[in-house]
Amino acid sequence: MASRTPTIGGNWKMNLHLQDALDLATGLADAVTGAGVQVTVFPAFPYLMPVASVFANKHSPIRVGAQDCYHQPNGAFTGEVSLSMLQDVGCSVVLIGHSERRHVVGEADALINQKVHAALDAGFEVVLAIGELLEQREQGMTDFVNYGQVCLGLAGVSAEQMARVTIAYEPVWAIGTGKTATPEDAQQAHAAIRGCLKGIYNDETAQAVRIQYGGSMKPGNAGDLLAQPDIDGGLIGGASLKVEDFAAIIDAAAGVTA
Ligand code: PEP
Repeated sequence: MASRTPTIGGNWKMNLHLQDALDLATGLADAVTGAGVQVTVFPAFPYLMPVASVFANKHSPIRVGAQDCYHQPNGAFTGEVSLSMLQDVGCSVVLIGHSERRHVVGEADALINQKVHAALDAGFEVVLAIGELLEQREQGMTDFVNYGQVCLGLAGVSAEQMARVTIAYEPVWAIGTGKTATPEDAQQAHAAIRGCLKGIYNDETAQAVRIQYGGSMKPGNAGDLLAQPDIDGGLIGGASLKVEDFAAIIDAAAGVTA
């Protein structure tokens, strides 16, 4: 594998309340050294600052990221959260285009692209989530959908800015369903995404971008997925809510590079 440090994200979604989030952060800070793996958790907005404080107090390398952002700097955008607000609470990573934003809230590629630009311009690292629906996979459209979401999501992003972009390939049918892509299917999709990045940018840029797999990744399947040459980490929902499971996935990522 190219020398890409594995990156593991924990998407806490709209789960946990304050004490649960603090307990989970404390447990993770105690369990995760972070050696050889970059670890980021994505709590709900209200818990970003308290969770970041737990990690800071425990000198943990685990970072906090936001599950979304708005691209406008301020103004009459009720319910939205700006990037400068996220910076205020110690956040420098943002997840953009998660399938639940695309398919539940209805975000289109054009808005996702505006968010990507705003986040990169503000100095953030971006995790751009992409992936196909079940019917799209069944129609053989997986690569077509992924290419479209990559090209539209990254339109106008420079090769230099790509150093701060991670792609999270998350087949929508695998998210929260217990169904996981086989390591071979996931590898095929990741290799195609990397090929798309090569077409947009160049080989050097494409080889440097980390592509995470997401979709029911668990301790039992993480090792085989993470051993694939183009899978550089995971974005984990359900299994990131339990210290032992999330720590085991992080250990699997560390084992792959050890
Ligand atoms: C996710 O929320 O991005 C995700 C992959 O969830 P899960 O691991 O529960 O499928």
